Amino acid sequence: MTDNYTKAVNSGFTKTLAKKLGLPRPAILRRHRAGSPLTVGPVLVVSDAASRPDADALARTLLGWGVDVRREPTDDARWGAVVLVLTGAAVPTDVSGAVLTTGSVLRSLAPSGRVVTVSRATTDGDSPELAAVRQGIDAFVRSLAKELRFGATSDGIVLTDDAAADDPTALATLRFFLSAKSAYVDGQLLPVGPTPDAARAAETATTPDHATERPLAGQVAVVTGAARGIGAAIAKTLARDGATVVCVDVPAAGEALAKTTNAVGGTALQLDVTADDAGTRILEHARARHGRLDIVVHNAGIVRDKLLANMAPAQWDAVVAVNLSAQLRINAQLLAAGLEGLRIVSLASTSGIAGGKGQTNYGFSKAGVIGHTRATAPLAAAAGGTANAVAPGFIETDMTATIPLLTREVARRLPSLQQGGQPVDVAEAVAFLVSPAAAGINGQVLRVCGQHMVGQ
Ligand code: NAD
Repeated sequence: MTDNYTKAVNSGFTKTLAKKLGLPRPAILRRHRAGSPLTVGPVLVVSDAASRPDADALARTLLGWGVDVRREPTDDARWGAVVLVLTGAAVPTDVSGAVLTTGSVLRSLAPSGRVVTVSRATTDGDSPELAAVRQGIDAFVRSLAKELRFGATSDGIVLTDDAAADDPTALATLRFFLSAKSAYVDGQLLPVGPTPDAARAAETATTPDHATERPLAGQVAVVTGAARGIGAAIAKTLARDGATVVCVDVPAAGEALAKTTNAVGGTALQLDVTADDAGTRILEHARARHGRLDIVVHNAGIVRDKLLANMAPAQWDAVVAVNLSAQLRINAQLLAAGLEGLRIVSLASTSGIAGGKGQTNYGFSKAGVIGHTRATAPLAAAAGGTANAVAPGFIETDMTATIPLLTREVARRLPSLQQGGQPVDVAEAVAFLVSPAAAGINGQVLRVCGQHMVGQ
């Protein structure tokens, strides 16, 4: 649900009043609806001279997706998005023409419009000039995100390991960033590697993901903490995309768990994820009821906020046990079982990046999630899988409803998008990362935080 303040400043008398008083006016964000167009207007593809071949390839792909693609700015357009291709830029002066062309159309960018930059990651052997231009793009993307208004976002695809601009994973990422599914992803740069050969072969042998509404058809996914909040949204979104979902939560949440499970047509597994044999039980359930296991989403999490000076051992231990140790143990059990192609997504938090007052336990656990995700990635890849993390900022759930009103209101207005995210925003990011087309993204952390500057 959109918060009451955002609703008020977007309608009637209170909208006029907010305008007059110069109050923050968070936009109602465009979110995905089945059958809705990828963008709300034409897409301008611009590049520096050396990136022209990559820009041409991306423009051709966008045309194939049925998008109205333009290569030059025109006065009459209300732009749905700008795709800024800088993959070939070699020295800082190379980018000026393309970024200034982008700037010239921003006043006619549609509400919830997109600017998506495509560039290459810096590597150890780069010349100082090359490293400068590639690193410069990082804070260009983040700065632009802070300038855009009316729900528009700026994100970047950073190609690694010589991935082609039109590699299947890069294209799937472009599609996600352009779409309404990335409504609350803002100011983020996502490193994207080449699609592994096995995934590429599977992709070309079947209908490409983007051409189907059910990219997870035939797959079995487990979502922990699925009874409510973000976990319930993840279960519903994975089911929408075709997966059969095993919904896991503690026995005490049995009623809510049954509700989610019925809504997604999956099966319920009442289980405390801190149990010693949680991974084995998840695998046994998935195999016995559905014959396989393809996707695991570690979403179950708790907060026990206290200043460290007042922290009781039980408060520290419970948070680390649920948020971190359980994920480690379950992953170890699943990887030891030799599952092929397992796709893992773990819920981290912006608190695990920036820290949060009263959250030494939570921050430790969520930074730990980021750490183990990076270390698990090569282990998962060795069996044809991936391990990534999603770091939500302030999301409107029962968990954040317990934050005192004033702190909650401040937390909502701090991100560039000036509002909390919805559980579905996190769910869309998870669904994207586990999709077959995103196989070249591994060991990464995608923030879904509306460009929140601090942890919460
Ligand atoms: P929530 O409290 O609304 O839901 C969490 C679910 O996990 C509940 O259904 C709970 O019963 C379940 N759970 C707790 N302990 C469990 C255990 N031991 N075994 C099995 N299930 C267990 O929380 P939410 O806001 O939906 O958050 C979901 C995840 O996202 C958590 O990992 C949280 O840390 C993370 N996150 C949330 C936010 C936010 O703003 N809401 C921000 C950053 C990260």
